[in-house]
Amino acid sequence: MNSEIPFIRPSFPAPEELAHEFQDIVDANWYTNFGPKESAFARALADYLGPNLHAATFANGTLALIAALRTAVGPGDRRRHVLMPSFTFIAVAQAALWAGYRPWFIDIDASTWQPSLEAARAALENSRDDIAAIQLANVFGVGNPDIADWEGLAAEWEVPLIIDSAAGFGSMYSGDERVGGRGSCEIFSFHATKPFAIGEGGSLVSRDYDVIEKAHDFVNFGFAKSRECVQLGLNGKLQEVNAAIGLRQLVGFDERLASRRNAFDQYRTELEGVGLRFQPNAETSSLCFASACCSTPDQKSSVMNSLCTSAVQARDYYNPPQHSHPYFLENIDLTRSSDLSVTSDVCSRIISLPVHDHMRVDDVGRVISAVRDGAA
Ligand SMILES: *Cc1c(COP(=O)(O)O)cnc(C)c1O
Repeated sequence: MNSEIPFIRPSFPAPEELAHEFQDIVDANWYTNFGPKESAFARALADYLGPNLHAATFANGTLALIAALRTAVGPGDRRRHVLMPSFTFIAVAQAALWAGYRPWFIDIDASTWQPSLEAARAALENSRDDIAAIQLANVFGVGNPDIADWEGLAAEWEVPLIIDSAAGFGSMYSGDERVGGRGSCEIFSFHATKPFAIGEGGSLVSRDYDVIEKAHDFVNFGFAKSRECVQLGLNGKLQEVNAAIGLRQLVGFDERLASRRNAFDQYRTELEGVGLRFQPNAETSSLCFASACCSTPDQKSSVMNSLCTSAVQARDYYNPPQHSHPYFLENIDLTRSSDLSVTSDVCSRIISLPVHDHMRVDDVGRVISAVRDGAA
């Protein structure tokens, strides 16, 4: 019996690589509250992502999303909605609610699985006053190929555009432009399961330094420079230890990404012929995992069974989509939904395959064989 291939296999710095980082922290005797490791990490993140960007750090990506909404949109208004795809991780709707807004779920585009621009435009045309912001998700961390059109729509309707790029640290929009510099701001998660992982952590990145400063104050109890609380804040600070892990994780990150893209290329080459379709632009993304749409729901169940029999851990993200989770079904008045038929169709056919840093050739081969067996 083969040993199980895990869906996610985090790679972390070895203890000896971190020993001197930890020594620095103990020497400084500074463990949180924006110490030297945190400042260096925030600077390094912004520099990695592109010119003229600024970054704030957070205890996790969900807090970065809440901070994005509070600082780039407003203090919350339960009558107003935030447009977002249902086809993304549940934290997106939760963040909107914690920030004081209501989620409005829109459909995705059938070819990119990214939020549908037409659906957002229709919502704005019919109900502009009900909409406080657009919370665009770069679905699966893949840079949206139509990002310039989204910025155009947001500018036309004067509505803030917040981009959730949680799993997409290292992904590209196109050419040499990394995900991170678009919209009012973008957020990332550095959770242990993401390609760029520090345990728990997150970041908010913007061209606008004002947004960064406000977000920074928000996760420090709403304190202004005077050390007086001037807004409703909370504690969402990143610890020095996690920032130090992040600084180490940046070393060699591009090489690890290249190895992930290599595994993805093999999946795509070997599996398109048996009816699987992969996401456009995924080949330049950081590939938390590899998503593919089967040709029918039956093919999907057969592929999932075959993967299970071959001891390959697989998933079918984002199924259920946000609006189908029991909490939202039971509290239907908290949300609003446009037509979601493409979302339902994609959920019935989607599969997510494991991608690891430097994934073993044998493991890639075993995933491919199992999918091919099931797809036939
Ligand atoms: C992982 C993820 C989050 C949450 O990030 P945490 O760091 O776990 O809080 C939010 N949105 C999306 C799309 C994600 O994939």
